[in-house]
Formats: sequence, C-alpha cells, structure tokens
Amino acid sequence: MVKNADFLTRPQVALMVKKGKSLKERITAVKQYGKFQARPNHDFDEEGKKAKIDVKTTDAVRTYICERCDKARVDKASFRWTTSAGVMTICPPCAKTLIDREAQEKLLKQSIKDGHVIERKD
Ligand SMILES: [Zn+2]
Repeated sequence: MVKNADFLTRPQVALMVKKGKSLKERITAVKQYGKFQARPNHDFDEEGKKAKIDVKTTDAVRTYICERCDKARVDKASFRWTTSAGVMTICPPCAKTLIDREAQEKLLKQSIKDGHVIERKD
C-alpha cells in the first residue's frame, strides 16, 4: 500500500485501479481517481450502436476506468464497446446513454418519415 496516495500521478493511480494487488487497494485507487478532473471521450458516440455493445459481468467485483466518461468504477458489470478505434471498456451508465441515444434517434427518424416532425434545414 502506498502511503502518500495524494502524490501519485494520474497514470499511477489508473494503473493501481487496474492492477492493484488487493481489492482494497484497487478500491482506494478508484476513490483516488475520482479526485482527478474527468477527461471524457465522446469522440465515438456516433458509433454507439446497441449491436456493438456487449455486457460483461463477473462474479466478483472488478475495478476499472470507463473509457468514455473517464470515471473509475467498482462493479460486477462493464460493457465492451467495439469502435473504429478498437474495443473500449465502458460503464453501465455510459452504455445506457449510448443505447438510449440510438433508440431516440431511430424514433426521431421514424417520426420525420411519418411527417410528425418537420426537419429544420437551417
Ligand atoms: Zn462511463
């Protein structure tokens, strides 16, 4: 266990979240990571399709950093999201956001087709 966790850099804490020796150490790292300003990556949101997102659940809790919202998590569930840049590990709220977004876009497209919504062209 590192004593002065406050002096660890972001990559060091991120490494501890993933590779900390004990669950306790990893959970401490998750809390520590939360003190850094999140750097979300929404570059691939356009590719957020349900068909490309797979849930991965484990019996034991795992610690990981969501590659979309950049939040460290302690969870049994994570999602594997296949993007053009490779597979990203994302958290349940991000997976839900992407799937809901896709559903909403479909609904909107259908409404436009049906003439319920007039598409703005400005
Ligand atoms: Zn997330």
